[in-house]
Amino acid sequence: MMDLGGKVALVTGGNGGIGLAMAGALADAGATLALVGRNADKTEAAAASLAREGAPAPLALTGDMTEEQGVAAAVARVAAQFGGLDILVNNAGVNDRKLPQDYTLPEWNALIAGNLTSAFLVSKAAYPLMAARGGGKIVNIGSIMSIFGSPMSAPYAAAKGGLVQMTKALATAWAGDNIQVNAILPGWIDTDMTVTAREQVPGLNDRVLARTPAGRWGRPADLGGAALFLCAPASDFVTGIALPVDGGYSCAA
Ligand code: NDP
Repeated sequence: MMDLGGKVALVTGGNGGIGLAMAGALADAGATLALVGRNADKTEAAAASLAREGAPAPLALTGDMTEEQGVAAAVARVAAQFGGLDILVNNAGVNDRKLPQDYTLPEWNALIAGNLTSAFLVSKAAYPLMAARGGGKIVNIGSIMSIFGSPMSAPYAAAKGGLVQMTKALATAWAGDNIQVNAILPGWIDTDMTVTAREQVPGLNDRVLARTPAGRWGRPADLGGAALFLCAPASDFVTGIALPVDGGYSCAA
């Protein structure tokens, strides 16, 4: 039920942090991996680290997933290299924290594009390839900000909340094509993104530790199991859900 042998997976933003850890879990289960990020060197290094004996060499792609042409080129490269696409993890994301009244319109638009529009564009490009294979899996990486508000992340929260609703919409639209579309909502995970959060938001570290029942920050590897489940045959009748992976953050009063 967890075997991904013969499956081709594309992980956006898979060159570090949560994306790389999820890609590792998929590679360990036998998937053939393609990664895409804007930083070519980082993506090459990450792809090399995912090489597994007996599997095709992982493909490192450079592209900006907020640009339709970049998305089309990346998805076409995956199809050309591996003959199709079965699994898409929309993990690429960005944040910039400030009070709502301090965002400019270009900053707002960039955060909506980087966290929501990008996932739509890649899903749209992946759809015909998955439909042609008789099915597929799409996993969108939301956030606990998909559920909660935060004074310092209005556009990020709006985009991540929208991502959950888009997940449900795509799940209903593509269920007849045997494509399952689900979301994962990570809690506070120790990555480059949250290093900057701790710099931008005073007291964040202590508040996260106090508010998370598990009593610790998450590690990128904590996301591997949930990602594997939602990319594997084990979840073939699961679609449209948003699964928190947060050490209990979202269930604590
Ligand atoms: P990172 O900053 O380490 O990873 C983000 C990745 O996205 C990078 O690999 C980056 O690569 C890539 N990326 C960003 N924008 C684009 C773009 N336009 N096109 C292509 N790639 C892009 O942070 P995390 O690992 O923490 O974040 C991964 C996901 O998890 C994000 O969606 C984030 O919102 C979400 N998340 C993280 C949480 C946390 O606590 N860390 C909590 C909840 C959600 P490059 O710079 O090379 O483009």
